[in-house]
Amino acid sequence: MSAFLSISNVVTAYGKIQALKGVTLGAEKGRVTCLLGPNGAGKTTLMMTISGVLKPQAGSIQFLGKRIDGASPSRIVRSGMALVPENRLVFKDMTVLENLDAGAITRTDRSKVMENRERLLQRFPRLRERARQEAGTLSGGEQQMLAIARALMSNPTLLLMDEPSVGLAPLVVQEIFGVIAELKKDGVSIFLVEQNVNMALKVADHFYLMEHGRVVFDGAPDAIAENEAISRAYLGARREAS
Ligand code: ATP
Repeated sequence: MSAFLSISNVVTAYGKIQALKGVTLGAEKGRVTCLLGPNGAGKTTLMMTISGVLKPQAGSIQFLGKRIDGASPSRIVRSGMALVPENRLVFKDMTVLENLDAGAITRTDRSKVMENRERLLQRFPRLRERARQEAGTLSGGEQQMLAIARALMSNPTLLLMDEPSVGLAPLVVQEIFGVIAELKKDGVSIFLVEQNVNMALKVADHFYLMEHGRVVFDGAPDAIAENEAISRAYLGARREAS
């Protein structure tokens, strides 16, 4: 198992209901790791557990050689990991700039934070155009870009992204995957929950499939197309739809 991010036998429950029933998986430095799975499989629960929002009942999570399970979300951000949550979840009544600043709340090096914000506004020019607008007035795609940029304000080594393309128009989805490819080129490691396998295949180096709180498949991109059940559920359906 990789020493970069290593998740071992993690169990997370909501009351008596176990959403993660002993999940073991890993992500490698500089790579895009993609997690697939149907609704209710536990993907969001896993992302929230890795980022410290939920505490696992059992198992361990190591990041860069240190155990982080049980640590607070802010400590986990400081250790070099940031989450782009499901459904974007930007602060809708705050401006674009205020949202970005909120992403740097764990950082104390103000001048570097401002440099970082400037770089992000260059990378996402539409955010610069809308810098003083309330985030709630942005389109869905712009809000997703803002959610990504906000997470990047902490300068993460590992970016967790929970279904960034869901509910967005095909052109915007392509833009988001373009951003993911650029981040990968810049050396940011990415752990991505995604249902759009055709798009994920363009950037991902490794895939996991979760069902009912367990990892049921683990393989390289080639293995996805060769796996009949996965291609029927994900690739076949997409091809028919397009
Ligand atoms: P989706 O693609 O729909 O987001 P998911 O794979 O991310 O699905 P989770 O949201 O992690 O799945 O849900 C896993 C299981 O945990 C589901 O059975 C769900 O009903 C349950 N669950 C999720 N959130 C809660 C909660 N706050 N309280 C109780 N049960 C929950």
